[in-house]
Amino acid sequence: MLSTTPSELEANQSGSSGTVTRTNEGASEAASGSNESARFRKYASTPLADAKHPTAIASPLSCIRLLAFPMDIIYEIFGQLYPLDLANLAQTNRAFRAFLLESPQSDGLWKTVKVVAGETPDGPLCVPQVAWVRAMYCEYECAGCGQYSRDEVDFVLLRRICFECRWTRLLHHDWLISKSEHPILSALVLQLIPYTSMRTLSGSDIPGKRYWEPEIAATTAKVLKYWEDIEAGKPGATEALDQYKEERVQYTRAIIEHGATCKEWLRIRKKEEQALRATQYKRCVPMVARVVKFRISDCFW
Ligand SMILES: [Zn+2]
Repeated sequence: MLSTTPSELEANQSGSSGTVTRTNEGASEAASGSNESARFRKYASTPLADAKHPTAIASPLSCIRLLAFPMDIIYEIFGQLYPLDLANLAQTNRAFRAFLLESPQSDGLWKTVKVVAGETPDGPLCVPQVAWVRAMYCEYECAGCGQYSRDEVDFVLLRRICFECRWTRLLHHDWLISKSEHPILSALVLQLIPYTSMRTLSGSDIPGKRYWEPEIAATTAKVLKYWEDIEAGKPGATEALDQYKEERVQYTRAIIEHGATCKEWLRIRKKEEQALRATQYKRCVPMVARVVKFRISDCFW
């Protein structure tokens, strides 16, 4: 789940903290016991990564041999992969990780595979490349009920959520505040979480900020932990809370702005696809009519 700040996201995956950049994400995918990493590891569980007997490409020696090929050949090979395959490969071992996430060629390679897979826009800088790819190209599985879902990925929540779960697990801002036993805490928490909107069956937005239920619970728990530290008189606890709030606000703002850009991209793409289908339909109708006419005339011979 991406209910974390940029540094948390990075820290969860790398075991370190600091400024989040794509170049740091290589080490980030390796370890942590957090829910975020658990989610990423779930999607990283490919036959290649989990094989008891490593395949040729997964063995360190073969990896070194492959990466010893001329760069244009490697680029050509990897450029044929699907983005999710590349993400899995990046998490196979350190050599692939360094090449795919930290080398100068990596940005161009990711762009190439994304274009081939449907020109998905790049993610915001605050979200690591692999995390973004997993969100965009993950299986058709609703993050709420786990059922198969063809619903679009929510570009702000970075999840695919089915229509039913959007109604039951996306909670309205005003309702949350009115029902809360601690409105001040709730108001603070809601400032730190990305929000989305409800959609009608036709896909149009319904006004109002909606929050993903599990993110509310996770962020509330973190804020309460900071409060406990402050009440216990731990040194630096107040500053730590302030830093957390600042990071979360920046992260939330960035991902919401980026989500709006992605939605516009999706709207234009749908329009183009509709126009293409209409053109294809116009071309097909006369051909089908000719075939039907031919068959009917054939019947009377
Ligand atoms: Zn669902």
